[in-house]
Amino acid sequence: MTDRRHIYTTSKLDRAAHLRILPDTLQGYQHSPDTLVTTVWRHKGLFNSEQDLCPVFLPGSEATEIFEYAEEIIFLGMRDDRPVLAAMLPHSEEPPELSVGTFLDLRDHWSLLNVDDAAIMAYARGLVHWHKQHRFCGNCGNPTRSTEGGHVLQCTGDTCGRLHYPRTDPAVIMRITDGDWCLLARNPGWRPGGHSVLAGFLEIGESLEQTVIREVKEEVGITVKNVKYHSSQPWPFPASLMVGFTAEGSRHDPLVLDKQEIESAQWFHRDELLISPEDETFNLPRKDSISRVLVDDWLKEK
Ligand SMILES: [Zn+2]
Repeated sequence: MTDRRHIYTTSKLDRAAHLRILPDTLQGYQHSPDTLVTTVWRHKGLFNSEQDLCPVFLPGSEATEIFEYAEEIIFLGMRDDRPVLAAMLPHSEEPPELSVGTFLDLRDHWSLLNVDDAAIMAYARGLVHWHKQHRFCGNCGNPTRSTEGGHVLQCTGDTCGRLHYPRTDPAVIMRITDGDWCLLARNPGWRPGGHSVLAGFLEIGESLEQTVIREVKEEVGITVKNVKYHSSQPWPFPASLMVGFTAEGSRHDPLVLDKQEIESAQWFHRDELLISPEDETFNLPRKDSISRVLVDDWLKEK
């Protein structure tokens, strides 16, 4: 197992769950100059583009305009003893005209950000997505209302009142190797030249290790062994946790591709990957992904 901190993993944020249940938490923090407010519109975050690109964390006392537009305000936790709130703007075609910043996709700009800022913005984005998807109770269909600082949605139905909690869907992602060879694949929708390790969602009734074996068999037709946990990465794009594994396969077994998901798959020699051109002819996985970490860790083993 690698004790590695992946991008989008929060560390400088104390989630301070005990504060969520205090009814006046949000009210009290909202207009304080100590409070930091991150703003989410659709899946985008608010950035200041006037100087070097940086995320906008507005002091609560300067965020009146944003609070007026916000549909929900969520308490994310404490950063260096300062409350951090996420403001969820309406899901309109265009964002409201704010006096500060511009809305950009975190995943396009993560490399310019401090890792803690990126992690907090990813967290906010994931919670906002959950709010958008759970406006109505899945049990009875009545509207839900936000409670516990935005971390619980409670059904407003008179006879129901069910509590709904944020969802994370686990997915496995696995590096398959055979000695100095590593199996990489390509999905038809990816950027030109983009390659990655295989991945797939957990199904009900499966262990993570079973999912690894099943997904590899389904996608490329081979049977893997020695499935071992590597590390995990939050992936709130929109609602996953990527659980990384390593496993061994044989490069002499025929690859039979699931053409719906896999455009091509191939065993690559370590020496070949070490000189990857990183262009549209061949790209290793994106650098913010656990897929890249799985491959890089293996390349460094030599
Ligand atoms: Zn209900």
